[in-house]
Amino acid sequence: MSKYSVSVVLIVFLILNIIGCSKNLDTQTPPKVKPITLKNSPTPKNDGISKTKISAVTLTSYPASIAAVVNKTYYMPIDYIPKDLVYPNVPFLFNEKIEKRKMRSEAAKALERLFAAAKKDGISLSGVSAYRSYATQKVLFNNYVKRDGYEKARTYSAIPGTSEHQTGLGIDVSGSSGKCAAASCFAKTKEATWLSKHSAEYGFIVRYPKGKESITGYKYEPWHIRYVGNISNPIKSRGITLEEYLHVYSVSNKIISDPLNY
Ligand SMILES: [Zn+2]
Repeated sequence: MSKYSVSVVLIVFLILNIIGCSKNLDTQTPPKVKPITLKNSPTPKNDGISKTKISAVTLTSYPASIAAVVNKTYYMPIDYIPKDLVYPNVPFLFNEKIEKRKMRSEAAKALERLFAAAKKDGISLSGVSAYRSYATQKVLFNNYVKRDGYEKARTYSAIPGTSEHQTGLGIDVSGSSGKCAAASCFAKTKEATWLSKHSAEYGFIVRYPKGKESITGYKYEPWHIRYVGNISNPIKSRGITLEEYLHVYSVSNKIISDPLNY
């Protein structure tokens, strides 16, 4: 190798080093979030779920926590199934002992106390839908997508993994007649008024309050109550949402990711 060639090699080496150093100095640039591929999921095989690719999703840190935040930003792990699901001893609009009748045991006991207190006040409540597994939400959401298209479906139905019903701590409640069950006209019923006034006394909050859509990502749902335990009272008295209480990200209606690649 000639002297000239050695010099060229040295210069190239130096230039490469300088570029490398300047990259190292640029520490302010946030790292790119790599897509997460969930593998080896313990969910049943051949349901397509274990192959689901998730991009830039924040997984809820403590899915089994009573205060777990699940929304359009914070996703439940696909394979999370609460270990303590039971059937609360309260009436539902249906008789079958099926998945959507279940809740986690602590929430179920609190719900029994809430329903009993409502009855004392002359309010007859019924459960509409409580626990919903990831797999069930996926079937539901896929059906809505087939009917209305993805963009419309996600305005009224949760993308699988973002439904609070997967926690086993949320339940949709109606009057025992089932009138306006999980519909906006429920807001005008005496049952909705009672729930909004008294839920916090039993550890529940109305999870999607009026005027908080930019934070919760959902329009007012007076029928959807969520068990949060003893933080229900400060949340209610301060007129805030679970997101605000826990100082986590608020969501916008804009989906930050498209986990199921629709
Ligand atoms: Zn609900």
